[in-house]
Amino acid sequence: MPDPYHVWLSEIMLQQTTVGAVIPYYERFLIRFPTVESLAAAPLDDVLTAWAGLGYYARARNLHACARTVAAAGGFPRDLAGLGALPGIGEYTARAVGAIAFDVPAVPVDGNVERVVARLFGVEAPLPGAKPVLRGLADRLGADPDAAARPGDFAQALFDLGATVCTPASPACGLCPWMAGCAGRLAGIAGELPRRGAKPARPLRHGVHFWLEDAGGNVLLRRRPEAGLLGGMAELPGTDWRALPWRPEEALALAPMAASWRPAGQVRHGFTHFALTLELFAARVDRVAAEGFLHPVGELRAAALPSVMRKCVAMAAGLAGSSGGAAGRGDAGGAVEPVIARRAAPKQSPA
Ligand code: SF4
Repeated sequence: MPDPYHVWLSEIMLQQTTVGAVIPYYERFLIRFPTVESLAAAPLDDVLTAWAGLGYYARARNLHACARTVAAAGGFPRDLAGLGALPGIGEYTARAVGAIAFDVPAVPVDGNVERVVARLFGVEAPLPGAKPVLRGLADRLGADPDAAARPGDFAQALFDLGATVCTPASPACGLCPWMAGCAGRLAGIAGELPRRGAKPARPLRHGVHFWLEDAGGNVLLRRRPEAGLLGGMAELPGTDWRALPWRPEEALALAPMAASWRPAGQVRHGFTHFALTLELFAARVDRVAAEGFLHPVGELRAAALPSVMRKCVAMAAGLAGSSGGAAGRGDAGGAVEPVIARRAAPKQSPA
């Protein structure tokens, strides 16, 4: 059977992140934290740093909390209720880990499985409203005696079918073992399924952040509150992110200290529920006298900065005219991290 730690880690990383973006992180994580016990024993900051760039940082905090719970219990629970009670594990992940790692009779239903099931049964009701119906139909597939005899293999076969045959744009029905009875194919609408309801417009928020560098080549950072978006991550000090754009004088009144602030560019970033535009200001002073902590500009790559802040660092450091800004020195050369997107790519575990 696959190692439950590997299955769990890959499933957590794949939540809301593409397979292509996950694989290098997954490989580095397993080198750095080869067992659930080593992950549990690591400081949270090390885990957040290794995670930086994958986005959705609540997942990293839950990952660490879950590893501690599992290590203290001597291993992963082997049933859906126990798995679902762990931090950061919802119904889908409990089913995926349960089926793949422990052969629990359950069908994990992600976007790829929804697509296969919607086509196979010709479900025309749009997502997300159709989710319960699709889950029920997936369970019906999982109750087939052959599927129920090997739940892990069945789950991965469904993932593989969605990834390689029943693909989003052009299903290769001629290769599909379910071709003969597929309602979507017979009706000639397979490629249109699953249907989706209209997406609500993503609101836009605005913020201002400040790059403040001292004569010693350090930049001022602060830590975000533990609860909430990007909780516990480091960031450049800044304003709230709000619906109204900030007037420069309004934002500069909230700068960490008095200095010769000058505009240093604009960064755009997309979160799941809103789009963000950040204006940047930069200044250089002999000595920083402000709340937060100083971090060497040359070591920003190793800091637990979320992707949006890496973009800010790359922009502000490059334009601030510092003696050795991160972008100029290549410290944040890979600063704009891989795209974080709702998983639309074929679902497969890199485990
Ligand atoms: Fe998907 Fe075609 Fe197979 Fe139906 S027959 S499940 S549409 S690949």
